[in-house]
Amino acid sequence: MPSRQTLTIVIAAFNEEASLPEMHRRLRAVLDGLDADTSVLYVDDGSRDGTWQVLQSLASDDPRVQLLRLARNFGKELALTAGLDHVDADAALVIDADGQDPPELIPQFVARWREGFDVVYGTRTQRDGESWLKRFTAAAFYRVMSRLSHTPIPPDTGDFRLMSRPVLDALRQLRERQRFMKGLFTWVGFRQVSLPYQRAPRLAGGSKFNYWRLWNLALEGITSFSTVPLRLATYVGLLTALGAFGWGLWIVARTVLWGDPVEGWPSLMTVVLFLGGIQLVALGIVGEYLGRLYLEVKQRPLYLVSEAKLPR
Ligand code: UDP
Ligand code: MG
Repeated sequence: MPSRQTLTIVIAAFNEEASLPEMHRRLRAVLDGLDADTSVLYVDDGSRDGTWQVLQSLASDDPRVQLLRLARNFGKELALTAGLDHVDADAALVIDADGQDPPELIPQFVARWREGFDVVYGTRTQRDGESWLKRFTAAAFYRVMSRLSHTPIPPDTGDFRLMSRPVLDALRQLRERQRFMKGLFTWVGFRQVSLPYQRAPRLAGGSKFNYWRLWNLALEGITSFSTVPLRLATYVGLLTALGAFGWGLWIVARTVLWGDPVEGWPSLMTVVLFLGGIQLVALGIVGEYLGRLYLEVKQRPLYLVSEAKLPR
């Protein structure tokens, strides 16, 4: 009989003082019934409310609690990276701080892991408390992503997932700065399995992701997992050039055959503006990739830790 397996729950929290006590109470009840040595690693992602104080009091009540405080708000993707980097258990399970991912499901994740799966990811069957616009934009994103990328991101899959040691080690090798975690989680491969669950409404407060942040997250996902937009720019350019060439031939022929007094200011304007627009869009696409390249070559650390309470 091998020694007991260890499991660390990783939770990124940004301004979650209102949700955390209830969340931890539920988590604790679940972990007590689990046949494994568990710890809970909270990452305070530069919260501006009392989150850090709440976390410290949780840690003083419960020896299983480990804490990491980032030097500022780095965003959920980097907060999770920081957490996962500091896990030395046999597996890590990522869960939201707001109770939207029910901790009561953790035993099911663990059961699938023990069946031999390396990644168990939660798939939402229902999105309670989310507007139709959010559902629609989310669905559209997953569709576009699956067309553009060779890394098919399973739809309606958040960060609620369990990863085994080999997967954590693999993730640690991916040090890219522009991190789209859902994509990275999938990219590493290994034996993955989906676990359907119903996503609950938040315990307290509102979502930290407004549409502008979601749009940027989507751009991040597309640019870090696909170069199709660059190729698209090439094809749109080629097609436009081809069209322009054909039209140009027609104009020359028409002038030679029938003569042509100067006319066509409207068509001239249309063409100039149209081509200008296309060029700017193509330039913008190139710029998106170039900007990311720039951020990457600077080789800055992914995140900075200001305080920590870790074992040893
Ligand atoms: N979060 C974070 N840093 C941020 C934004 C969010 O660590 O900059 C955490 C947040 O505390 C929560 C999780 O990420 O635990 C999911 O955030 P949220 O509930 O706002 O997103 P949604 O569920 O609406 O997708
Ligand atoms: Mg949430």
